[in-house]
Amino acid sequence: MPETYDVAIVGRGIVGLAHALAAARTGARVVVIDREPAARGASIRNFGFVTVSGQARGEMWNFARRSRDIWAEIAPAAGIAVDQRGLLQLAQRGEGTAILEAFLATEMGEGCELLDPASARTRFGLSGFADFSAAMFSPHELRVEPRLALPALAEWLATRYGVEFQRAAAIECAPGVVCTAVGDVRARRIFICPGDDVTGLFPEVMARRRVTRCKLQMLRIAPSGRTLPTPIMSDLSLIRYEGFAALDAAAPLRERLLAEHGALIDAGVHLIAVQSADGSLVVGDSHEYDAAPDPYQRKAIDDLILTAFRETLPGFDGPVVEHWTGTYAWSPDHNWFSEEVAPGVHLTLVTSGAGMSTGFAIGEQVVAAAMASKTKEMAQ
Ligand SMILES: Cc1cc2nc3c(=O)[nH]c(=O)nc-3n(C[C@H](O)[C@H](O)[C@H](O)COP(=O)(O)OP(=O)(O)OC[C@H]3O[C@@H](n4cnc5c(N)ncnc54)[C@H](O)[C@@H]3O)c2cc1C
Repeated sequence: MPETYDVAIVGRGIVGLAHALAAARTGARVVVIDREPAARGASIRNFGFVTVSGQARGEMWNFARRSRDIWAEIAPAAGIAVDQRGLLQLAQRGEGTAILEAFLATEMGEGCELLDPASARTRFGLSGFADFSAAMFSPHELRVEPRLALPALAEWLATRYGVEFQRAAAIECAPGVVCTAVGDVRARRIFICPGDDVTGLFPEVMARRRVTRCKLQMLRIAPSGRTLPTPIMSDLSLIRYEGFAALDAAAPLRERLLAEHGALIDAGVHLIAVQSADGSLVVGDSHEYDAAPDPYQRKAIDDLILTAFRETLPGFDGPVVEHWTGTYAWSPDHNWFSEEVAPGVHLTLVTSGAGMSTGFAIGEQVVAAAMASKTKEMAQ
């Protein structure tokens, strides 16, 4: 007789591993199945930036706070270094300062502080930064190196909770069984977390939920000898991140940036910069929506990202030592969903490019509900 697991998970990206952690913590015997020998998708291509401030108000913001707590709790045990904490959200124009003031007046502003340039420079140094109008310090964020964090997390799940990992492509999932190219895996409950593979398993659900893909370009800049005290985001992020952009106060900045920076906005460019342990900066990104994006790294888009970077952090400029692209699942209709696609078989996707920030809380909620067999479907 083949072995039977309590839980099988398809996908060893952050969303799959989040489900694995939640299931393992209930005492379940868990197997994770992935066609790759290690995470290779969005989960190792991102900034490793667990962002709270800027997440969409309500559920996503709450998921991010809970996920950040889980990252902070497990990182020391799993040997995952937290490279940076907090966020400096810069306002480079007066219109940006107005957005930060409006944000701070909401519940999302809890614990955050608005600083004038002189106080920000006294407190954080900010050597190498261009002039700005104001800065909001958010204490909630943390940053890990994703290409190290994902393997470390998998290793820790195996040693701490006995989670098993199998390399196989899942061809079909039905109640109680994951059919793979190298044989069937039996499990009472199945969670499918396939990231941006929107044509493989349950394509009809993906189509009904209008899931497509978003391609991003990313850069790594050689160490400049300067320290970035926290991850930073710029004015462009204030009109991109829903927690800021959905505020009424965002309209004037949007209009001004469209006039001044139309090409950057057309390419979906905004600026996030984070610093790795070796002093290099990970800088991005751009957004291109396409069901089958091409694999090419476009120089013109890299140049737009570098324009935003040099306007913000001129003293950190240096040679680009890595270029890469990544894709994530995206839908215009929701930020995430989990659906019971067959009895005991759940499909979970983060469809808003925030899986690193929200995945742990989503996995926890989905697994708890499935174990309690309470809901057929959860979605916003
Ligand atoms: C460039 C970039 C920057 C980003 N920055 C951030 C950020 O700063 N903060 C943040 O919160 N989020 C960020 N994101 C989004 C975040 O990375 C994603 O939301 C998250 O990684 C999605 O995780 P996942 O596990 O769903 O997908 P993935 O990491 O893509 O993992 C899916 C896994 O499923 C496997 N799989 C799929 N189908 C099958 C099958 N049939 N059989 C076997 N295996 C299968 C794949 O091999 C893969 O390993 C960024 C994304 C990108 C691309």
